[in-house]
Amino acid sequence: MTRTRIAHVRKVLEDLDLDAFLVSHLPNIRYLSGFTGSNAFLILSLRRQILVTDSRYREQSRNEARGFQIVVSDNSLVDAMARKSLFSRRRRVGFEAHCLPYASYGNLKKLFPGTKFVPKFNLVESIAAVKEASEVAAIREAISISDRVFQEILDFIKPGLRELDVAAEISYRQRKAGAERDAFDVIVASGWRSALPHGKATAKRIRPGELVTLDFGCSVRGYHSDLTRTIGVGSPSRRAREVYPVVLEAQERAIGAARSGMPARNLDEVARSFIRSRGFGKFFGHSLGHGLGLQVHELPKVSALSTDTLCEGNVITIEPGIYIPRLGGVRIEDDVLIKNGSCVVLTSAPKEFIVI
Ligand code: ZN
Ligand code: ZN
Repeated sequence: MTRTRIAHVRKVLEDLDLDAFLVSHLPNIRYLSGFTGSNAFLILSLRRQILVTDSRYREQSRNEARGFQIVVSDNSLVDAMARKSLFSRRRRVGFEAHCLPYASYGNLKKLFPGTKFVPKFNLVESIAAVKEASEVAAIREAISISDRVFQEILDFIKPGLRELDVAAEISYRQRKAGAERDAFDVIVASGWRSALPHGKATAKRIRPGELVTLDFGCSVRGYHSDLTRTIGVGSPSRRAREVYPVVLEAQERAIGAARSGMPARNLDEVARSFIRSRGFGKFFGHSLGHGLGLQVHELPKVSALSTDTLCEGNVITIEPGIYIPRLGGVRIEDDVLIKNGSCVVLTSAPKEFIVI
């Protein structure tokens, strides 16, 4: 599995006239080698593949990163690369510009004066944006857990509970259902806080008449789900009831329009122009969605400024929202797979306006 991914990277290295590529972003290290530890560098040249890590991961790296030469160091990993002369004969080495620490970069330049380190963006990410069947299967498992927990949590939520109580329950139930962890800190945003697109749960108590936005996900074999639903508690205001169908229709229009070959910014515009036409344009600030996989936010970007094109095998979220300061907000988020030219919705939690 990782072999075809590595072959893909090597092809890109040849095209870019690079002798090797230094991978420092942990999700990309996992993607290319299977290694799940928290401290490593990975080096791919046209012939060699090396994982550099520390002694805590001596056994684990051998088990996980099959086919890799393993270098274990108890000091700086960059110093270990120098001791092994890993780049000495390489003229041009690409590195991940968005996540190589400045100190490591300085050390590399000092220890390998004959090598040119070339910054690259999204080299591995562009490959990882197209999912293999086994990756989609893991995402589907994570999604089925989140879908189920959403259904269960509807019976749990009641006025008087703190947002944190609900977040803890979601977290607990996802793990009990087989998740490895939460995809991110569970978002429970009630009342005026639902107007905060990323309102992490607080000690605020949920009161009758409020909207509550729940945004959560989990991971299975490293792959994530990401689900948002907004519900009403008691009897929400007329304004809240007006906003909900606008968000829902924007979301469903985007789902209906998503297909391979489409510039991602055009998909963003499908939802955004509808929300604008209903007079809520200035209340939808964030992007429509994002790629989903080993990382919760990955390529393709689905925003007004995106230069990505949707293609077969992309898994993306579609999550428009309307946030009215002090009144509250509504967001609805599904995960979809671009397949056979159109779009398969992977999430199945209900989307009608639920009031409890
Ligand atoms: Zn989300
Ligand atoms: Zn999301």
